[in-house]
Amino acid sequence: MFETLTDRLQGAFRKFGSRGIVTEEDLDQALREVRMAMLEADVNFRVVREFTARVREKALGAEVLRSLTPAQQVIDIVHQELVDILGGEAPKLATASRPPTVIMLVGLQGSGKTTSAAKLANLLKKQRLRPLLAACDIYRPAAVDQLVTLARTLDVPIHEEGTSVKPAVIAQNALEKAKRMGATHLIVDTAGRLHIDDDMMNEVAELRRLLDPAEVLFVADAMAGQDAVNAAKEFHERVGTTGLILTKMDGDARGGAALSIRAVTGVPVKFIGVGEKADALEPFYPDRLASRILG
Ligand code: GDP
Repeated sequence: MFETLTDRLQGAFRKFGSRGIVTEEDLDQALREVRMAMLEADVNFRVVREFTARVREKALGAEVLRSLTPAQQVIDIVHQELVDILGGEAPKLATASRPPTVIMLVGLQGSGKTTSAAKLANLLKKQRLRPLLAACDIYRPAAVDQLVTLARTLDVPIHEEGTSVKPAVIAQNALEKAKRMGATHLIVDTAGRLHIDDDMMNEVAELRRLLDPAEVLFVADAMAGQDAVNAAKEFHERVGTTGLILTKMDGDARGGAALSIRAVTGVPVKFIGVGEKADALEPFYPDRLASRILG
């Protein structure tokens, strides 16, 4: 495992401390540790550069060099900057002015879209809301069956029309059904492919126009690193996303992808996936991720 960022910062400052005085160059050397650790945590290099510049400015402004605990002060500044970049507060799901609130899940195949759709339905159900799931990922073999099985296990209603009807038609019918049955939320699992292509983007954009969703959540695999960042950017520019679900945070991923995606798209992380089970979806707390990145 990596040495944690906190350890590295403390180590760097210990070295300087033995000389009795911490200089601006020492601070820069400590910030190099921050830069390396963030790159290892999969944070985009441009984001890292801006980030360390801000930390440097704050550290100098706060007279860290003259303090008795420079390492701890820099760690505190890094922590606060991480929280700020991640959006500060835990963000809430948007609600439509008239039900059903439509939530579209978008992203690449294998990112955890279908699983997250079911998890989200489960979460809403636990809050005594009435979600309806819609199976519009007709391309990945077994995605529809997977969602049907999950919905049945969770006892959440689902609208599906197999794999030969167009997603736009399925979505339209699902929306009508949601209204008829008085659903509070319609959660739509959309086309996922291995790579971004025009057909997929056009289809997702068409669904967005049709459904006028309150949320378009990009589902990103926290382990996918820079690929997830590029895909998030592309989806944000071409479809318009409103939030992010970061999956597989139960693995080794430090969560640097969250930081990059947030910085590159400006879109907040709303949930994290922490396991394969239906209850393994948690609201996102910037503070906790900052601590995790610091280690
Ligand atoms: P989709 O192609 O985007 O719909 O992806 P799936 O929902 O089928 O998920 C792909 C794989 O990732 C499945 O084996 C899921 O069980 C797994 N998965 C999804 N979310 C998580 C998570 O938060 N943690 C873990 N460990 N596995 C997850």
